[in-house]
Amino acid sequence: MADHNNVRSTHPTDVAERVDELIRGPQYAMPQAEKDAVLVSILRVLCRDVAGRCEPYGRFLERFGGDVDAWQSMSDVPPLPVPMFKRFLLSAVPPEKVVRQLLSSSTTGRQPSRIVIDKTTAFRQARALTSILKEHIGPRRRPYLVLDAPESVGDGENLTARGAAIRGVGNFADKTTFAMRSLPDGNLEPNWEGIESFFAEHQSGPVLLFGFTFIVWSRFVTEAERRGLRFGVSEAVLLHSGGWKKLTADAVSKEEFGRRTAAVLGCDERCILDFYGMVEQVGTVFVDCEAGNKHAPAFADVVIRRPLTLEQVDIGQAGIIEVVSTLPTSYPGQALITEDQGMLVGVDDCPCGRLGNYFRFTSRIEQTEIRGCGDTFAQSRELR
Ligand SMILES: [Zn+2]
Repeated sequence: MADHNNVRSTHPTDVAERVDELIRGPQYAMPQAEKDAVLVSILRVLCRDVAGRCEPYGRFLERFGGDVDAWQSMSDVPPLPVPMFKRFLLSAVPPEKVVRQLLSSSTTGRQPSRIVIDKTTAFRQARALTSILKEHIGPRRRPYLVLDAPESVGDGENLTARGAAIRGVGNFADKTTFAMRSLPDGNLEPNWEGIESFFAEHQSGPVLLFGFTFIVWSRFVTEAERRGLRFGVSEAVLLHSGGWKKLTADAVSKEEFGRRTAAVLGCDERCILDFYGMVEQVGTVFVDCEAGNKHAPAFADVVIRRPLTLEQVDIGQAGIIEVVSTLPTSYPGQALITEDQGMLVGVDDCPCGRLGNYFRFTSRIEQTEIRGCGDTFAQSRELR
């Protein structure tokens, strides 16, 4: 490849401009081959820049990245295993530049991930999420019902994945109502009177709902069914996120979730939209299209890798989900291997018309399968 192709991308400031262009532009219009070239040329500069400011990542890149200038495709970028954010504080900025910390919701006894966010990253995350969601639900603001309690939003300096998503979707709200209360024991209790009056008031117009998948199901849909409630809001759109682990344990398929949730709300099943995203990459979300496939936005991508060799899978095959994003500047979150499994459904030819890679989430990976990957990283003792 001729060197002049990369001239624009050799400085972090030029790259920042290109990332902003991608965030502002159409999200699903670039054919994969073109997107590969654009994103890789950005990642070469971005990863090296972050490596220069984050010593442990610098060592990781040196050891696993090979010749950064020779990266030709997304799969050449070495992915960092997400558990590393639980074990190390991986920051590429001095503490005074940190405007926010993102925390994974930790289950008892487990260390949460801590992600440090600077002003640039925070700004990009908010704009990116808005840019993506706009292409799925349209630009207009509408009444917003949060299927959660106000306490889940957090205080702004320390945000959980849940809080970040509630706030992010809130950019499309003209008025926000919380559907639940947080009980002293931490459980959530739906405020059915409040919910019914919200729907009664906004019966005829568009409304937006958001909740974590398991909460939507266990605290809203099944309870509404038990109470015989049907809300009849035909212009409702429900966004939900946060994993299917607990639901697959209850043997609830995505199809059943969509069908029964749509029946309770009275809207079309295609208006029940699941999105996939990690707290380690807030703002980078992979939203379901009308065909039920998840698409990568313009500034990000997905790589599905074989568990043992980490090679990219072929179309139609399942593997570990890696998420790639050009948003982060304050931490090494550009390429992350997750603990989830997904299937690469296709490239550039989804029936919905969106271009690029598209995939489906299939399951969580058992801890043992990913451990080998994490151990490799931790072997560099000096990282501690
Ligand atoms: Zn699609």
